[in-house]
Amino acid sequence: MTDLDAFARRCSAGALTRLATGPAALDDLPALARRLAAPGEWVLLSDDTAKTAAGVDLLSWVAGLIGEARLVTVGDHAPVTLDEATVEAAVAEVGTPGLVVSVGSGTITDLGKVVAARSGAPLLAVQTAASVNGYSDPLSVLVIGGAKRTKPSTWPTALVIDDRAIRAAPPRLTRAGVGDAIAIWSAPADWYLACRLGLDGPFDDAVVRPVLDAVEQLADPDPEVAQRALVDGLTLGGLVIGIADSTAPLSGSEHLVSHVLDMTAMARGTEHDLHGAQVGAATVLCTALWQEVRASCRVFDLRWSELSYPDDLAERVLGTWAELDPSGRLGQECLSAVQGKVAAWDAADKTACDKGRGELLETLFGYVGDPARSAATLRHWGAAVRFGELTPAVDREQLAWTLSALPYMRDRLTLPDLLVMSGEWTPELIERVLDRAEASASSNR
Ligand SMILES: [Zn+2]
Repeated sequence: MTDLDAFARRCSAGALTRLATGPAALDDLPALARRLAAPGEWVLLSDDTAKTAAGVDLLSWVAGLIGEARLVTVGDHAPVTLDEATVEAAVAEVGTPGLVVSVGSGTITDLGKVVAARSGAPLLAVQTAASVNGYSDPLSVLVIGGAKRTKPSTWPTALVIDDRAIRAAPPRLTRAGVGDAIAIWSAPADWYLACRLGLDGPFDDAVVRPVLDAVEQLADPDPEVAQRALVDGLTLGGLVIGIADSTAPLSGSEHLVSHVLDMTAMARGTEHDLHGAQVGAATVLCTALWQEVRASCRVFDLRWSELSYPDDLAERVLGTWAELDPSGRLGQECLSAVQGKVAAWDAADKTACDKGRGELLETLFGYVGDPARSAATLRHWGAAVRFGELTPAVDREQLAWTLSALPYMRDRLTLPDLLVMSGEWTPELIERVLDRAEASASSNR
């Protein structure tokens, strides 16, 4: 991508007016702040986690660059969760300023977008880590009624990604970013499948291609080249979510795995690893799933127009989530999402998929990455390749359960849905997938 800044304006229909990236992007801050600001005071929004760049305190550096601004700090010495109370308190404290400057990683940027959307103030976002692709999009991940939800908020008016800040970010965040970036080797296959089946779409290669190109050099031996690939891959990922107006091009089965792990931890009151760390290991797993299904299942040979969800689907959905929430509330919530998917399936015309199956599969598998390459890329950055390497570790039994639950959670069709319909989403298949993922993780590619 030669001109990320121009691409950002195009993807956001002009809302993201400036995307400043590179070795000295922070130098743009004073002029950017003056240009964007409406009349009124300026607010500097951050949390109290220390952040540095080039060996100095980043928040003080930004404050010095922009001049007078009122500091609003959220999260009292603890990781910030964007639940209703936290968001409302921040919105009230920020008020209606002429400019919001956010300094932080994903959570603070997401909060900045919500605060900007609510107050109408322009948002100048200073990104402090390459941890997820959610900086450069008009969405925020919030916790609503105890469940994580991605909600529309607003584009940052400008986004500043300075290499010096990214390089100084906690390595754990950067490794998670690698995991989120390689979802592009898994998610487009699920998106393509859903689009061809008429449940989403239209599919457009031009949406995913810039991200695929950007991550090509993610495991480059030159750390500068690899970091550029990481930052640009994530930034482009956010931008194309914006143009597709859906997270589907970058969120398939591998993201479902991460969501189910989050839901499990929330229900049990336990910890879970960072989003991107889970997504990275899940990308190895879900690309192994595609390979295993092609090698040993008959679903791709069946007439999809004759498939339907099983009669006992509702029992399966409720039974799955009763393990996490015996009250049945979670089960009911997931069931209503799944019923939407069933209705869409029943209404869709699948006959075209039966006619051109060879061409369909060839294109589809063009989007399925090699699990060994995903594993090697994660290992290159020191990121978790197996679920047992996550913090806390996820053991094989929990992982098998997580996989089994995938088709029973959301309204978005992915490969496991087809396997439920073909009667092949069995414990035996899941064991074979886990073995294949393990073999990819231990290969010396
Ligand atoms: Zn993600």
